[in-house]
Amino acid sequence: MIIGVPREIKQDEYRVALIPVGAEELTAAGHTVLVERGAGQGSGIPDELYEENGAEIVETAQEIFSRADMIIKVKEPQPSEWPLLRPSQILFTYFHFAADEKLTRGFLETGATAVAYETLEGKNGQLPLLTPMSEVAGRMSIQEGAKYLERPQLGRGILLGGVPGVPPAHILILGGGVVGKNAAQIAAGFQADVVILDISVDRLRYLEDIMPANVNTLYSDKHNIREQLELADLVIGAVLIPGARAPMLVPQSALKMMKPGAVLIDVAVDQGGCIETSRPTTHSDPTFVVDGVVHYCVANMPGAVGRTSTYALCNVTLPYALRLANQGLEAACGQDRGLLSAVNVHNGQVTNRAVAATFGLEY
Ligand code: NAD
Repeated sequence: MIIGVPREIKQDEYRVALIPVGAEELTAAGHTVLVERGAGQGSGIPDELYEENGAEIVETAQEIFSRADMIIKVKEPQPSEWPLLRPSQILFTYFHFAADEKLTRGFLETGATAVAYETLEGKNGQLPLLTPMSEVAGRMSIQEGAKYLERPQLGRGILLGGVPGVPPAHILILGGGVVGKNAAQIAAGFQADVVILDISVDRLRYLEDIMPANVNTLYSDKHNIREQLELADLVIGAVLIPGARAPMLVPQSALKMMKPGAVLIDVAVDQGGCIETSRPTTHSDPTFVVDGVVHYCVANMPGAVGRTSTYALCNVTLPYALRLANQGLEAACGQDRGLLSAVNVHNGQVTNRAVAATFGLEY
């Protein structure tokens, strides 16, 4: 099979869909790997490294799309890439179709097959190709929170860990899933005073077992949220209801009860956000202030730490890319129902029930 890796063209995207070891594995299995010149640049991977590992460097995206049987990407195809896609071609990437009707309809017209990272299921129904990006965003949320709590960034001027004789920051984490757990681990390392709220008591039990003494758990209800918002220097929004818009847990009226210069990091903004005043921002203009509270709502946080994110993503995508390349789409999906659940569009038809239902399309 010919596998193509174009350069990502979405704004602020620094990841690439294949690392050099992937080129080595795929070519060793008898496949041809085409990498667009400069594709690895944002992640600090030079073209020569791909070449040394068996890939062919190609000058244009057009050539990649016209020659490849399977394209591996990171972000959903951009409108300028839609006309380059061909029927029978596989595109293996993040799509998030349900959030974008134009993309869904545009992709249907290409006739290509969409194998979507975000709906690929693991053995226990988990979503293994989403997990590493939640790990990155969770860990990064504390790093960003620390930065925006600094006075020159309009924060309260609080050091996360405090110092002897001065208390540490109080950090409220809404949602103790992958993002919340990773945020708590990093915050605990900074010696902050951390509380995680979740509606799953089983999850809170687990977190209580594994977290150090400066991380406490609380059931997520209106009273606890309100009390904690008054105490918080930093709030991390990390809730998710699978397949639905994020629940709104922080109404605008609550901002007035918060400390001036407190910071809200709404990681869940990509699912609509759990803070009423959130709106998606970008890495080039990440924050805004409402009622004296700093909001950070970057919808693609992992993009900023492209190198870490690229390696974390490719570690989990490569085994599936290899299977698709070695066995072909039908045989690979026949053997792994989890991979089958990643096929969102095939032969000009939506093959994911939720996406079809969202836009009233035939399924
Ligand atoms: P997850 O499913 O692992 O965890 C979500 C947690 O939220 C669960 O434990 C669930 O019980 C809890 N929850 C649901 N309703 C709640 C409520 N009312 N109060 C408290 N907790 C509640 O999900 P995740 O992987 O941690 O992802 C969290 C969010 O972060 C998602 O919206 C995801 O899309 C987003 N995300 C954003 C970025 C970004 O760049 N902005 C990157 C990665 C993930």
